[in-house]
Amino acid sequence: MKAQIDLHLHTTASDGRLSPAELVRLVAGQGLKQVSISDHDTTEGLAEAYQAAEEFPDLRIIPGIELSTDVPGDEVHMLGYFIQYENDEFQNVLRGFRTGRLERGRAMVDRLAELGLHVSWERVQEIAGDGSVGRPHIALALVERGYFKEPKEAFAEYLGRNGLAYAEREKMTPEEGVNLLASVGGVPVLAHPAYLTDMEPVIAELKAVGLLGMEVFYAQYSPETIQELIVLAAKYDLIPCGGSDYHGLGNTGEPLPGTMGPPPETVERLETAARRLTEVL
Ligand SMILES: [Zn+2]
Ligand SMILES: [Zn+2]
Repeated sequence: MKAQIDLHLHTTASDGRLSPAELVRLVAGQGLKQVSISDHDTTEGLAEAYQAAEEFPDLRIIPGIELSTDVPGDEVHMLGYFIQYENDEFQNVLRGFRTGRLERGRAMVDRLAELGLHVSWERVQEIAGDGSVGRPHIALALVERGYFKEPKEAFAEYLGRNGLAYAEREKMTPEEGVNLLASVGGVPVLAHPAYLTDMEPVIAELKAVGLLGMEVFYAQYSPETIQELIVLAAKYDLIPCGGSDYHGLGNTGEPLPGTMGPPPETVERLETAARRLTEVL
């Protein structure tokens, strides 16, 4: 059965391939009722999304973001929901992160060249368009040059954490991520936990610093993994979230928006949590 809620979607504001307006039309067409646009380290897509959503009164957009944070040996993505994103200080911090991403992207393109894979930085930026440059844009440039058939192959060999051209970013700890989200009333949710090398200690550690939810109903996870995540979410009293993590990159088998999502009570729990966070601001 198709989900009516999808809390994890990307647009051209970060590394998705659909503009916020195109994404809104797609999710409305798929019959989705509540979605969150959760771009990497930016909320620049939200204004356009809200405007496009005026045509679809049955569709509710929850303001979200996906922050990139780090623990030793792993990258931890932290989703934030119901953020009061029009906060100047919050936007300043995000701008700082995006500058860091740009420098990192350039470093990766340089490393690729040393390894004999030549893509131009200008072309990577062109592909990124208005969005902040990310690894998927480099992957698309590599595909375009014929080095790979699909972006995911470029990740496996070169751009992933253990890839030959991987470059580190400026670090933010998950605790700093939680605090940044809390500063704008956002509910912190651990994204795709099963990608972590050893997830339970990370979940326990994040719970201790204020994590309130974790992704469980994640479109790329098997029923067995989802079952395991349901148990962990209950054990740590975390709100079980989820969605498609749609980017529109064109990888074979990429789940479309609404392929999977959490039950309606998840949104209610997130809203209640956001209200509590806002009360202490
Ligand atoms: Zn992620
Ligand atoms: Zn994502």
